[in-house]
Amino acid sequence: MTDRRTALTESFMQDLIARTPRQPEFHQAVREVAHDVLTIEKNDPRLHAARVLDRLSEPDRIITFRVTWEDDSGAVQINRGWRVQTSNAIGPYKGGLRFHPTVNLSVLKFLGFEQVFKNALTGLPLGGAKGGADFDPKGRSEAEIMRFCHAFMAELCKYIGPDHDVPAGDINVGTREIGYLFGAYKKHKGQFHGALTGKGESFGGSALRVEATGYGLIYFLCHMLGVQGRSLHGVRVAISGAGNVATHAAEMALQEGAMVVSLSDSTGVLLAEDGLTQDHVDWVRAQKAAGQAIDDAPGGMRYVAGKAPWGAVDAEVLLPCATQNELDADALAAAIDAGAGIIAEGANMPLTADAVALADRKGLLHAPGKASNAGGVAISGLEMSQNAHGRYLSSVEVCRALRDIMGTIHDQIRAEAGSAARLDYRRGANIAGYRKVAQAVAAFGVI
Ligand code: NDP
Repeated sequence: MTDRRTALTESFMQDLIARTPRQPEFHQAVREVAHDVLTIEKNDPRLHAARVLDRLSEPDRIITFRVTWEDDSGAVQINRGWRVQTSNAIGPYKGGLRFHPTVNLSVLKFLGFEQVFKNALTGLPLGGAKGGADFDPKGRSEAEIMRFCHAFMAELCKYIGPDHDVPAGDINVGTREIGYLFGAYKKHKGQFHGALTGKGESFGGSALRVEATGYGLIYFLCHMLGVQGRSLHGVRVAISGAGNVATHAAEMALQEGAMVVSLSDSTGVLLAEDGLTQDHVDWVRAQKAAGQAIDDAPGGMRYVAGKAPWGAVDAEVLLPCATQNELDADALAAAIDAGAGIIAEGANMPLTADAVALADRKGLLHAPGKASNAGGVAISGLEMSQNAHGRYLSSVEVCRALRDIMGTIHDQIRAEAGSAARLDYRRGANIAGYRKVAQAVAAFGVI
């Protein structure tokens, strides 16, 4: 079976790479799913005839546009913006916007592809998409960020809408940027409706959307430990990143009694051998919000420049919450030496392919982002229905919904993961997500 899977995957990938050269992140994401689902597709005449995975790996459309804006000195600046609308098979296109100098078509295609399966796992009627720009907000003034957001939306607004495509935030796009983007959307379209999620609560945002990805990650992790009859209490947890996902994961991990031993950013890592506190998390959040460095750490934390958390401190659980391919095989080997046995991804595809293979060889439990970080999009889905119906849920109701959804995702994966002693979360997530989308794609006929 393994040989058949590998042969099918390699043949599929050869064709994909020939059609889409120089898109390594996209190929990495598709290869992982293809390996788990192509045998299912081949064995089902209806899905095979429909060529479901071929269709899902060719986005419905890709929109590329110029973003022209003026910096504080009056100079004209030009960036490139994109929206990749991957699939609306089970609902309107849905996925975040990322502003980062590393954004390119390969990165957005991988993120849009992952989003299709993630959104299916939530059980909500959401298709998959991703977008963003190669804009670097670092060192930019608030007024420049506002002008960039307004210029970006002046073009993007032509391609989105509440029943069509509903973007949200991602790296460097938080509540502030969504406010500027929504303001521009309203101005250009002359309509107030839920064409974006992650909005401020005073203009249609959902309670707990900001916290949802990080909190949901910890709820999912609690289910992983629950299968072993354990809780998070006293467990040492290493977290990378210092943004939305990382700090909210740290906050909820502390509430569940874990010992959080690190946070990090693109300059270095903050280590807390005896565990960090909520005050430490608040300090990190405030520093990042003010655009300040995190190197002047308060007592109880130690900053190490140029390093990541992996292997720098003993931890059983690894929560990579920064960016794609941040954790390679060497770093994972060091983390395993320092006691790692469980990985739950807060970021999308944070492990390199070699690191994934090592995690398998060493028998680690490994939850993929499409399952463990789905809490954010799940609450975005609830924000869409709250906007549509004009009825808003309390934070207690949203929290209950988030816990339920993360539990249901875990159950679906267990049901698909097979009976092996080690629960294969990646395979379970890929198959469960694929089955749902595939049935819809096949039902539409050849279109
Ligand atoms: P933020 O912009 O809030 O934070 C990103 C963090 O990652 C920052 O601390 C940043 O450091 C760090 N980072 C970025 N690039 C690198 C790098 N190359 N090396 C080391 N650190 C890096 O983003 P989010 O927290 O929202 O997103 C983090 C991850 O979670 C992303 O992979 C995103 O796709 C994923 N995700 C986010 C969701 C959400 O709801 N926001 C939902 C699901 C997934 P610095 O500040 O120095 O740049």
